[in-house]
Amino acid sequence: MSPSAPGSISPLDGHVLEPVVSTPVEEVADLVLEARRAQPAWAAQPLNARCKAVLGFARAALERHEEIVAILVAETGRSALECGLNEANGILEYARGAVQVARKALKPERVRLNPVAFPVKRAVIETLPRGVVGIIAPWNYPLGIFFKSLFPALLTGNAVILKPSEHTPRSGGWLARVAADTLPPGLVQVAQGGGAVGAEVLEQVDAVVFTGSVATGRRIAARAGERLIPCSVELGGKDAAIVLSDCDLGRTVAGIAQWSMHNAGQNCAGIERVFVEEAFADTFVPALARAISRLRVAQGTGDSELGPLQNSQQLGIVEAHVADAREQGAQVLCGGSRVGAGWGYLPTLIDHCRPGMKIVDEETFGPVLAVVRVPDAEAAIEQANASRYGLNGSVWTRDLARGEELARRLEVGIANVNNHSFSGIVPQIPWTGVKETGPGVAASRFSYGTFTRPRTVLVDRNRQPDPFWFPVDAHLVTLAGAVRDLSLGTLSAAFRLLSVLSRRTRAIRALGDEMNEDSPRT
Ligand code: NAD
Repeated sequence: MSPSAPGSISPLDGHVLEPVVSTPVEEVADLVLEARRAQPAWAAQPLNARCKAVLGFARAALERHEEIVAILVAETGRSALECGLNEANGILEYARGAVQVARKALKPERVRLNPVAFPVKRAVIETLPRGVVGIIAPWNYPLGIFFKSLFPALLTGNAVILKPSEHTPRSGGWLARVAADTLPPGLVQVAQGGGAVGAEVLEQVDAVVFTGSVATGRRIAARAGERLIPCSVELGGKDAAIVLSDCDLGRTVAGIAQWSMHNAGQNCAGIERVFVEEAFADTFVPALARAISRLRVAQGTGDSELGPLQNSQQLGIVEAHVADAREQGAQVLCGGSRVGAGWGYLPTLIDHCRPGMKIVDEETFGPVLAVVRVPDAEAAIEQANASRYGLNGSVWTRDLARGEELARRLEVGIANVNNHSFSGIVPQIPWTGVKETGPGVAASRFSYGTFTRPRTVLVDRNRQPDPFWFPVDAHLVTLAGAVRDLSLGTLSAAFRLLSVLSRRTRAIRALGDEMNEDSPRT
């Protein structure tokens, strides 16, 4: 199989897929304009109506699951079961969770104001949509990654423009078609193509959510900064799992095999490094090798745990990392080579890895797991944190209290004990990281800063000028001192405050009355 235009051939066996036409860059502005026209009426609907419409959209998508599963199978080479289980089947449940989050996140908030400093005023903070949100996505979960941002963006009252990866354009295209069939016309648009189209989307939108590589994420964040639009970037990962000698061997082996090989390792929160206590390594590592070597890679039958790599560039990175580990003396316990007619790669476990190897230091994004033997948990924490990335991390132990204490010391956005990565499909939990994984937050109420802006409405029912307004006089000096002392907890200041407040109010009222008398009335 030879490399070809991105997204044009099946990763499974190289057969040519039905082509997807790229959006001409100069037409992106028109798509955004159409979305912009649809947005005000959508935002004007009550939240309940938007929730109902979004749930209807998600239900329609789920009812059409056979269509999207066929597309996902074609684009990714994964089995129909896996495409359903890990992406398509969850859409309605995810939307339900997103609705719950939206109802809380979008609730107007009343602010209690200090009655002395700000007498008889009302303050309400409301949330308003940004306008048109651009969602620029990678290829590893061509459908699922859109859910995280599409639902909250819509629920908030935004219009959306989807930019699928050029490697997997059909899934995002399908999602936009279902949206067009079920939501107000023009509200969800799709722009197809590569980096140039993504860059133009960024030029046109009012907020952007980007998921992808560190290199592109930096460019997006820099340009969004120049345009002064909100931006959320979710980038790479090199997740670590720490296996302690007291873990439950069976569950730990199954869990580490699951979350290192899930989606053939093409998971930003896939376990790529496992740190195991030396004293336990000779028990744990052979058991893990047995579990991993049993996993089958899709050969066109659909009956397999792993699909192929989605594209040839990714396969190239995986091969380079494994070659580097071999050259540096690491021991490949299983896998370590291509399989099948497409971009398949055998599930691979490599023992005796150490820092300085690509397989330990760089994101591999494939079905390859590096074992690093460490003297103890302290060394494991130290080495796990010696990474450019920090998305998920996990500690595997029967001692849950110790596991929690150690997990909290991992420099990550999501710290797990005896599991890994599963919260990626929970809409209430923030998906976020540290360091080069990027500061973006997907899902949960913490993601709403990208989709909304706060607007505060202040209504003042005071019929007199406020006590701190002009003029400056002796009463104001006393008042300022009393307020300061009261906030320091000096209770006697309360009496000073009360007595000076009434004198100050009388003085200001007199000034106000004077002004009223002076002003000509009609
Ligand atoms: P990528 O950066 O190459 O591309 C991502 C998207 O950006 C694509 O749609 C692409 O067309 C677009 N793009 C490229 N250049 C652009 C530009 N200049 N302006 C605007 N858009 C542009 O990433 P990829 O290879 O598709 O994705 C793999 C990466 O994504 C991995 O590093 C993985 O860890 C990361 N990822 C992160 C998360 C997370 O939640 N942190 C989730 C999934 C994947």
